Amino acid sequence: MHNSLHFTTFDPLRDAPEFCQLCESRPPVFHFELSTERPEEEPSHRKGFCCDVCATRLVRTLERTESQQWSAEEAALAADDFDTAEFHKRLESLRAVMESR
Ligand SMILES: [Zn+2]
Repeated sequence: MHNSLHFTTFDPLRDAPEFCQLCESRPPVFHFELSTERPEEEPSHRKGFCCDVCATRLVRTLERTESQQWSAEEAALAADDFDTAEFHKRLESLRAVMESR
């Protein structure tokens, strides 16, 4: 399963709450759905309305989840005696991109 994050627009006159459902301080600009699956945890599915600041936070959450999953996969491969050098290189370059922000 892949982790996913979807944003959609919505009709502000119809079905939106007055405030972002994550920070409860700014008006919402998107409807979001975040699905994540971490190693050794129940899959999580969250959805609601969020502001632009929280939308950025959700993207970071998705990045972190993906990075954790890759680390777990690398550990599993290493435990099975696979050569993880190539995989490790890709993981390191992904981390470098994320940390440079
Ligand atoms: Zn917010």
